[in-house]
Amino acid sequence: MTNILDGRATAEALRAEATAAAAEIAADHGRPPGLAVVLVGDDPASRVYVGSKTRASAEAGVASFSHTLPATATAEELFALIDELNADERVDGILVQLPLPGHLPTRALLERIDPEKDIDGFHPINVGRLWIDEEGFVPCTPAGIVELLRRYDVPLSGQRAVVVGRSTIVGKPMAGLLVRASCTVTVAHSKTRDLAGLCRQADILIAAVGRPGLVGADFVRDGAVVVDVGMNRVTDRALAERLVGGDPKRLAAFDRNGSVLVGDVDFPAVAPKAGWITPVPGGVGPLTVAMLLANTVAAARRRQTLQPVS
Ligand code: NAP
Repeated sequence: MTNILDGRATAEALRAEATAAAAEIAADHGRPPGLAVVLVGDDPASRVYVGSKTRASAEAGVASFSHTLPATATAEELFALIDELNADERVDGILVQLPLPGHLPTRALLERIDPEKDIDGFHPINVGRLWIDEEGFVPCTPAGIVELLRRYDVPLSGQRAVVVGRSTIVGKPMAGLLVRASCTVTVAHSKTRDLAGLCRQADILIAAVGRPGLVGADFVRDGAVVVDVGMNRVTDRALAERLVGGDPKRLAAFDRNGSVLVGDVDFPAVAPKAGWITPVPGGVGPLTVAMLLANTVAAARRRQTLQPVS
């Protein structure tokens, strides 16, 4: 029988914990934890992500400081803003919404963020801390997945994990966290030979690719744990119909919007084989914002310099 790993419920629990911690920090230090969110340009998807992060912060009692710059902003303006936020005592976490417009030096800007305020875990210092088992910030999506697996008591130690995808924000940190949890980890990518055969060896299979329905039933051994990170908008009706398993509600949504959100896993084909599986939507997605709050609270706690602000 398939068991659903409910990301929404776990995210709600994480958010409730962050809310309680934020209230405690506010009582102890005279100010709540603070999150600065920097958005450059007007990419509609980025606006939606920033909106949901800012709303979630407000609901959790985390102070949010939004900085929206035009797409024409210069690198110098961004460096100056990050320097200002690094120095701002009210700000515990800094998030620069990606992707940035092409003319901006993304890596150099991320590296300008104070590692102690780098709640996205993208700074090389935090990337290094993950791999040398030091406390630091870990990217929110893989951190949320580990929380989800732990909260469902999915055994990790000694398990064989395959992570499909080697991006800096998901695949690589996911592999690092699973190694830390004593899994035996293989990282696959677009050059991997016999991907399906490799994935069939996995006790825990993480798909972070960005290809709708790539992971079919032939990728999954009976009883495996399958985590679907993919968020893909499908506009082809036949593909949408297959990947939502003919669900009339979701097909009606497709007909209204011209697209539907699906993962990298062919859910209708894989779910009957998997022991545990995350749905899309309602799986990994909600965990990312919840972990952002958890990381901001952790940043506030970590910062020795936390001073009351009058
Ligand atoms: P990315 O940077 O594009 O990386 C994709 C990875 O998949 C690459 O390592 C690529 O290999 C690999 N790949 C591509 N095609 C493949 C194939 N046919 N077979 C095997 N591997 C293949 O993407 P990302 O940022 O990691 O995101 C991955 C997915 O997760 C996307 O759908 C994204 O929207 C979603 N996502 C969701 C959340 C969330 O909160 N739920 C957060 C972040 C990302 P190469 O390295 O060889 O090119």
